[in-house]
Parts: sequence; structure tokens; C-alpha cells
Amino acid sequence: MSEKPFYHSWFQSIHDPNERFELDEIVYQASDGALLEVVHDKDELRKTSAEDWKSLFRQRNLVNDFPYGSGVWGKKEWVLPNIANDNVVSMFEGHTNLYWAERYGEELGIADLWIKQCGNTHTGSFKDLGMTVLVSMVKEMISRGKNIPAVACASTGDTSAALSAYAAAAGIPAIVFLPRGKVSVAQLIQPVANGAIVFALDTDFDGCMEIVKEISQKDGIYLANSMNSLRIEGQKTVGIEIVEQFDWEVPDWVVIPGGNLGNVSALAKGFDLMFDLGLIDRTPRIVCAQAESANPLYLSYRKDFRVFEPIAARSTIATAIQIGNPVSIEKAISALQRHGGIVEQASEAEIADACARGDRTGLFNCPHTGVALAAMEKLVKSGTIAKGERVIVISTAHGLKFVDFKVRYHQMELEGVESQIPNPPIELPAKYEKVRDEMLRQIEQRFYG
Ligand SMILES: *Cc1c(COP(=O)(O)O)cnc(C)c1O
Repeated sequence: MSEKPFYHSWFQSIHDPNERFELDEIVYQASDGALLEVVHDKDELRKTSAEDWKSLFRQRNLVNDFPYGSGVWGKKEWVLPNIANDNVVSMFEGHTNLYWAERYGEELGIADLWIKQCGNTHTGSFKDLGMTVLVSMVKEMISRGKNIPAVACASTGDTSAALSAYAAAAGIPAIVFLPRGKVSVAQLIQPVANGAIVFALDTDFDGCMEIVKEISQKDGIYLANSMNSLRIEGQKTVGIEIVEQFDWEVPDWVVIPGGNLGNVSALAKGFDLMFDLGLIDRTPRIVCAQAESANPLYLSYRKDFRVFEPIAARSTIATAIQIGNPVSIEKAISALQRHGGIVEQASEAEIADACARGDRTGLFNCPHTGVALAAMEKLVKSGTIAKGERVIVISTAHGLKFVDFKVRYHQMELEGVESQIPNPPIELPAKYEKVRDEMLRQIEQRFYG
């Protein structure tokens, strides 16, 4: 009989491996202000072979044995091993479809294009993957007697939706700070409906971030932004899931949109762990895609990451990544340097049209996914991504959260954008002949013309 494994993980400064904290400590940064990361005792994890991990994960997929059926909690030992299952707050995250974009890929001249549909989830964005971990840890800490009166976040819309839902499910008070008028109606109504305390502030995301940091420091409210590295642990499962969905074959490229840059760091962290534990023998190249209007990482990339300067992000249809001073910049740069990273940017017109082209082949993309699609299209055109290579684009949210921009695109009312493939509804009186003539004309023109 082998002894029962003792999994251990802790917070560690990304600057100093000797600066460590337990995961139930209320701490977000190291003494020099560096971000923390969750580190797992890999020697303990290595006591299970790569093949055994693979078969354990396979066995757990979609089972009813709570919480292991969740895409995140099926990998509990790699995510947050030391919490009671009773304290896990899960909505069955992960297990999102990896969609073969056959027709879209054909149009671009690549055959192996896949979209990881992270938006097909409880609150409609990948933020659920991280929030299940953070809120579960809060529930665990409260059960261990920690004083946490509430959990708060600044948000461009999706973080607040996820926090509000998970906190409501757990019965924990949630507070969200949104930039007034800068999130979609769907994103605003989610925390409102879930009973969070919702503040709409006259500032941008970076301004909301300043407020929530101050509140978490001075008033003991627990911080749920991705500066809190617990979220990264859940989000890192996306790369693991992709590889698992290909029977542990590693793709050549993963393209992901980036704003605060937690998610690109998380993606890389998942690949690193699989590599370290021998489940894969290489890792993909990572492309981080930014909107031209909010491109501080791109500007730094153009200077080989020698310098980084925060910018004032300008307005973009990709509202969730309208961020000029990304919290996870250091982690992101390190992730890209480890994984042959590229940063590409896209204009508003490129974003909108890439979204629309994808939609025409059956997708329903959010504008942030559009940023990634536009970046991918550019890299295919330039030959950086070669024809035979396998490409995964991470779709970060469901298009239904962002219908306002699609409506404007198809009505040709999107500011500064000349819609290439608008498809507005045809308004006609309810008369058979008129309808028939127009219908036959449209069929001919669109599909046989
Ligand atoms: C949060 C978010 C992003 C950006 O993720 P970061 O970790 O901030 O880089 C992209 N797309 C959507 C839909 C998001 O909600």
C-alpha cells in the first residue's frame, strides 16, 4: 500500500521564492508589491504517473460525484487540493466545447482551426473558471473562522457577473465596481439580478481597480480581481482541457485576447504544469491579441519587452479588454517569453469584421474573441501560422452578452467601422408576392450569384 499523498500548495512571490504565504492568508502581493502565484508541491504530484493523472481526469469527466464532474474540480489536486469538498462552490464549470471551425478555417486556408468556447458557461465567460476557485476558498476561510465580511471586484463586466453568481450561490455578500456606461446591458444586469451591491463609477476600469484595491487594503473586504492569484488556478485548466480534448496531443498555436493579462498567464501556467509532470512533451506557441485602442502589451512586445509603459486605454468595442495598466503584466511577459509568444493587435474594423466572418460560419462571437480571430487571421495571412498547423482560438465570452455591438454592426451604425458583411433584417409589408419576390432575389444573390 502506498501512503496517502499529502498535496500542498501555497502563495509565493513571483520575485522571491522564499517569500511564501498559506492559501488561507488574506494577502495579494509580496512585500515589494510583486504579484503572488500559487505554487504546488510538484514532488508530491509526481508520485502519480502522467498516465495515472490522465486516466483519473478521464474517469472524473462529467461524473455526479461532487465536485469532480466540473472541468476545474476534476483537477482538484492541481488546483486547490486542501479544501473541503463541502466548501466548493461549483456551477459545473469547464468542459466547454472545442468547436472545429471547418468553414471559417477553409475561408482562411487553414484546415485545423478550433475555437474553445469558454463562453458556454453559467455566467457566459471564462471568468467562471477562476471564480469558482476564489469563492470556494473564501467559503473555506470563513468556515475556518476568518473574518471576511464581503468579496469585491472591479470589473469590465464579466468578472463582476461571475463573482456575483458564485457569491450568491454561496450566500456571501458581493460588491462590484463598474465603469459607468462602459459595460453591456447584459453584463450590468447580471450582478444586479444576483443581488450584488453594484456601484457604477464615473471612471474607467483602471479607476475602478484603484478604488477596490484601497477598499480591500483599508476595509478588510476580500479582493476578487485576478491580482488575487487564486483565480489563475482555475483559469489555467483551460489549456489542460484543450490538450485533453485532443487525447493529449499538443496544438501548435493558442490565440487568446488579453486585457488585464491574467488569462494569458493562466493559459501558460496550465501548459507548464502538464509539461513538468510529463503529461506532454512540448508546449504550444501562445499569441496574445490586443485591441489597438488598448495595446500596452503590444507596444512593449514591439520593443522586445525591454520596457513596459502603462497607457490610457481608448474606447473599443472589446470593452472587457479596455485596460491600459494590466495587473498581470510581469506574469504575461514571462509566459510569452517561455512559450515563443507573439503579441498582435487589431483595429476596430478588423475586430468587427472578424467577428462577423466567424458568425457567418455558425459561431456567435463576442468582440474580444473577435480580437483574437482578427489577430489569428493576420498571422495566417503573413505566413507566421503555417497552413498545416493546428490553431486554437480561445473564445472568452458568449456573444449573447454583447448583442448591442452586433446590432450596430449589422445596421451599419458602428462608429468608425464600415461593416463588410452586414445582414440587416429586411422590412416589408406582409404581402405574399412582395415577400416571395424579395426572398427569391436574396437566395439567388447570396448563394448562387
Ligand atoms: C476578462 C476578459 C478578457 C481578458 O482577460 P484578462 O485576464 O483580463 O486578460 C477577455 N475577454 C473577456 C470576454 C473577458 O471577460
